[in-house]
Order: sequence, then C-alpha cells, then structure tokens
Amino acid sequence: MSLPRQDTFVSYPDGAVTSTGTVVHLELLADGRVVVVLDRTAFHPVDPVWPDQPADTGTLEMNGVAHPVLDAVVGATDGSTLFVGDAPVRTGTEGWAFVVCHVVGDVAGIDIGATATVTVDADARHALSAGHTACHLASLALNEALAGLWTKEVPLDARGFPNFDQLAIVESRIVAGGSVDRYRIGKSLRKSGFAAVELEPRLAGVTARADELLAGWVASGAPVTIARAGDGLGDRRTWRCELPEGVVEIPCGGTHLASLAELASVTVSLDLTTADGALELTLRTTT
Ligand SMILES: [Zn+2]
Repeated sequence: MSLPRQDTFVSYPDGAVTSTGTVVHLELLADGRVVVVLDRTAFHPVDPVWPDQPADTGTLEMNGVAHPVLDAVVGATDGSTLFVGDAPVRTGTEGWAFVVCHVVGDVAGIDIGATATVTVDADARHALSAGHTACHLASLALNEALAGLWTKEVPLDARGFPNFDQLAIVESRIVAGGSVDRYRIGKSLRKSGFAAVELEPRLAGVTARADELLAGWVASGAPVTIARAGDGLGDRRTWRCELPEGVVEIPCGGTHLASLAELASVTVSLDLTTADGALELTLRTTT
C-alpha cells in the first residue's frame, strides 16, 4: 500500500468542525486498532513533539457507519514508513509528508478511495480553543509582569518584553477552558539574568499585574486569526491577535477562538515550588 506523499489538508485552523474527505491510507496498528488517513480533515491531532493541545474527539463516518475516533495524532512519512506519533523529525521538516492519523476500532469493508466524513465534538473543541487563546494571552501577560526581574538583555516576545515564557517553559497543557504551563528556573536562566530570588516575594504582585493586563485585553474584544503558510498539516501557522496596543503573533499549531469577545474573563494563578535545585513555576490560566 503506497503512503501519502502530501500533507493532509487541515481545516481546523479556520475553525471547521466537520469535513468530508477521501481515504488515502489505512494501516493496522500492533494493538489491532486502525489508522485512517484522509486527504483532508477538520480533526485536530495531538503533536507528540509539543503536545500542548490534546486531540479532538468525535467520529469518522464511512459507508454509513460512524466510528468513534479513539485518538488523533500527527503522523509523518518519508514514503516508506508511516510513523504514528513517533516521528523522528519535527512537524514541517522538508522532504516528509505530515498526515492526521485518525485512530478507530475497525474499518471492515473500507478501502482506499472511500469517502469519509469527520465530525468533531464542537463543545469540546470550543473549550480547548478558549483555553488555547487564553494560554497565549497569559504567556504574554506573564512576560510583562516579570519584566522587572531581568538584569540582562534576553530575546523579546511579540510585545517587546523579555520572553520568560519561551526561555523557561518545559511543558504546556491546554485543558477545557484553560491551560497549565510549567516553567523551570535553573542555573542557566539565572545566568541569563533572571533574578530568581526576587520572584517569591513578588509573586502576588506579578499575578495581580498579569490579571490586570488580561482583563484589559479581554475587554478589548480583539479579533484573533490564524495566518497560514499553506493548507497542509506541516505548513507553518501563526496565531495573530489584534490587541489595542498592536498586533501580536505567536507560532502555533492549535485551534483558537475568533475573538477575545468570546471570553468573559481570563485570570491566572502562580505556584512556586523547588525541585532538583531549581525553582518550578506553574501558571494556571482559567477562563
Ligand atoms: Zn499555541
């Protein structure tokens, strides 16, 4: 069976929750489940390289049978092997095709060339989109709120503040209506000029400043769009939010709200702990 040489066309960045496509590849997994690859899909897959936003939930309907999608994951193929969730390259690497692997229980009677309709659980998607939009805003708010703790020049974020988020993040998880980000403040961040010892006494102030910024942005009802270099899963996409003080852009493969007007509020909480000689900061964002 030949493997796809083209990326799956994905419509979830534009907010789509349903799509109809053609089956271009089927593959049996070791555990008996089946991977279905379509030429196009609205289903957001988890990217194992940076698994911030979980996979959509929903169904894949073929031949009048709606199969629950048990998992959806980014797959990569060099033309000879399909790597399902364990690609040896980053999503978007030249010379590889990146495909959405819809994992279902069985596809008896389905062949290559069959038509399939995917339907995403729209409420669950909306909650993840809200969480992801809030997550980006919170990272920007945190960067500004922590700006006074830097003593040296470091790379700046989309708004011109020291990019603590990018320099310290170890894990980001989007959840329904929010997110949890973990940051590590170790030796290298201190060497870069981050005044780690001042963080704890200032934590309440940092939280208050972040909440204040977030409230202002939510009140602005700023539009949000996803700019795309192409329709393929591996094409670069950028989250773009027209904040009152200027447009901000962050590279992002996830889904988002269309406007901050859809959010009633965004607030954060910060937790500081010690682990292996380093500080760990946890940012919880809630909408
Ligand atoms: Zn993102």
